Amino acid sequence: MPGAATAALSHRCPNLPGMTAEPVIDTQPDPTATPPTVRASLSPSRAADFKTCPLLYRFRSIDRLPERPTVEQVRGTLVHAVLERLFDLPAAARTPESAGDLVAPQWDRLVTEQPELATLFPEGDAAAVDGFLRSAAGLLEGYFAVEDPRRLEPAEREALISAVVDDELLIRGYLDRLDVAPDGALRVVDYKTGGAPREAFEARALFQLKFYALVLWRTRGVVPRVLRLLYLKDAEVCDYSPDADELLRFERTVVALWQAIEQATARQDFRPRPSRLCDWCSHRALCPSFGGTPPPFPVAGPADPLTDARSRPAAPGADE
Ligand code: SF4
Repeated sequence: MPGAATAALSHRCPNLPGMTAEPVIDTQPDPTATPPTVRASLSPSRAADFKTCPLLYRFRSIDRLPERPTVEQVRGTLVHAVLERLFDLPAAARTPESAGDLVAPQWDRLVTEQPELATLFPEGDAAAVDGFLRSAAGLLEGYFAVEDPRRLEPAEREALISAVVDDELLIRGYLDRLDVAPDGALRVVDYKTGGAPREAFEARALFQLKFYALVLWRTRGVVPRVLRLLYLKDAEVCDYSPDADELLRFERTVVALWQAIEQATARQDFRPRPSRLCDWCSHRALCPSFGGTPPPFPVAGPADPLTDARSRPAAPGADE
């Protein structure tokens, strides 16, 4: 965990007092409404790509190279879907058994919506699918080890939130869950199911959470009290409490990042930055760091901020 973020992180027990079932007044503006000054947009996933490796950003956002989802990513999507649906149930019914009962139906729904997911497993290999569903159920056990959903009534789930910074840049992304206390305090919760190395993974996750905190601060005027990472695999809670000064600095960082992206785009110059995350990169065959050659730089017209791949937020759980 780099720099100042480390000092302010703490691993704590779950369920802040007061963040339980309470009516919530949602003051979030319409995320599809874009001010006319906006000329670009950026999601936390794409911004984190550029921070991690400029060439990875180019492959994903400019070349838009397809990526076959990994079993881990799809498991993340499935677990997020189950946790999302779990809160549809009455509070008393949000038990481990109910969550387990949601796994297979949610998997069926995902495969119906995205038939290519079925190709993750050899055709007819029911045992492989069973093992996959059991592993998802195992992550849900990790969830119940750190939280009791019967005591929570989230204000938002899988919500697309957005804000404009620096007059011209729309930042937006899907947050997994937002809890609002009776006194208006906000807690942003992100479920983590992946198996990437903790130090690299947590820096990216925290960057994403600060992104959401900045959006919430700019749209609601409230600095979230807690940014919470729930590591389901390890049944761990990681809390971080930002302050306004930090979010102001973070906002400058985001704007500077965007300016760096624009400069790199104008120069068609996106350099590889090898790290341990290369082990998870789908594009190593095209990466000069691994002996590959990137495709010719695509010629593109002016981008629409709302449809540009550079700003398309990752679906909940897909960025594990
Ligand atoms: S393999 Fe590593 S250095 Fe190359 S594009 Fe992927 S993340 Fe970047």
